[in-house]
Amino acid sequence: MERERISVAVLGATGSVGQQFVTLLANHPWFRLTSLLASPRSAGKPYREAVRWLQPDDLPQEAGDLMVGTAGQPLSESLVFSALDAEVAGEIEADYARQGKLVVSNARNHRMVPHVPLLIPEVNPGHLELIEPGKGGIVTNPNCSTIGLALALKPLHDAFGVARVHVTTLQAVSGAGYPGVPSLDILDNVVPFISGEEEKMETEPRKILGQLSGGQVHPAEVLLSAQCTRVPVLDGHTECVSVLCHQEPGLAQAEEAISGFQPPEEVAGLPSAPKSPLLLLPQGGVPQPRLHRGSERGMRVTVGRLRACPVQHLRFVLVAHNTLRGAAGGALLCGELALARGKVPGVEPGWTPARI
Ligand code: NAP
Repeated sequence: MERERISVAVLGATGSVGQQFVTLLANHPWFRLTSLLASPRSAGKPYREAVRWLQPDDLPQEAGDLMVGTAGQPLSESLVFSALDAEVAGEIEADYARQGKLVVSNARNHRMVPHVPLLIPEVNPGHLELIEPGKGGIVTNPNCSTIGLALALKPLHDAFGVARVHVTTLQAVSGAGYPGVPSLDILDNVVPFISGEEEKMETEPRKILGQLSGGQVHPAEVLLSAQCTRVPVLDGHTECVSVLCHQEPGLAQAEEAISGFQPPEEVAGLPSAPKSPLLLLPQGGVPQPRLHRGSERGMRVTVGRLRACPVQHLRFVLVAHNTLRGAAGGALLCGELALARGKVPGVEPGWTPARI
């Protein structure tokens, strides 16, 4: 029997993140991909001709046959995933939200808007209550480096209260989209600047770890200092983190907090949720992007080298997949939580995952 699924559209479907959406939606148990949109350059062609397909999996047949539309054109779907370039995402996403659609965005434009949830389902699912049922709106997926960092900080923040964070990132080239950083800049090299990235990492975790009360998010009192670099790795961002807490954690307590971290039950049961969102490796020399970015379908953040820090309390290294956990996979998880919480307009209130 054909399962009843919710029709969804993808904006920016031809880009790096858009292609991950297409791959992940091909066999999604709750969502059916029915519209693909991109720039006027790609519109009017079947997706298989419009896209320069760069995924290791074959282009899904059904998606390949879809005709690409222009982002901004009228849509029948009430749930829209956006992988649009930030240069154009702001207005286009806001227009769809005004039309009563729920837009789950990967772009930076609306992340810090007070009534817009900046969501990591395992970390701050309650922030989704900023969205009124039936009205549509915008839900944002944090910056790809912020997601890994905020997930790793969450258990430490809950247990000891994180006060200060220093983070240095080693970010993959796929984070810059396609064609991205010129090969002559990145091969045999490290580029110690990514435009706008440090500002995002220094502000977004405060909102994500903040408390929702009185209809607004009160940012967490955490001071962050970020240095972001681009390195010649294809996928998977590495982050070297040191943390000072309000209450000094012993190493064993910190290990216990990270390895015992479990998301709320409503999130753990979602189709894109990893079995455990954080893995703490005890052995030395890891995590590494090539070995660990694919952990749990690219949805798990791997932490290692947890040890005492002579300057702050703790230090560790993490690896997170930037286009999966940090973009399309994380956004799908946000969409799944929104659907489960009745935030997708036009979906009858009685719809529950149990019906499929
Ligand atoms: P990308 O490869 O450059 O893809 C950009 C997409 O936007 C393409 O589908 C492109 O369509 C479309 N687009 C560009 N100009 C447009 C216009 N004028 N009108 C309509 N559509 C237009 O970028 P990406 O890496 O996939 O990133 C997509 C978004 O996700 C960005 O906002 C980025 O900051 C964010 N993000 C990326 C990552 C990552 O790891 N890559 C992680 C987290 C968040 P055409 O092909 O037709 O030009």
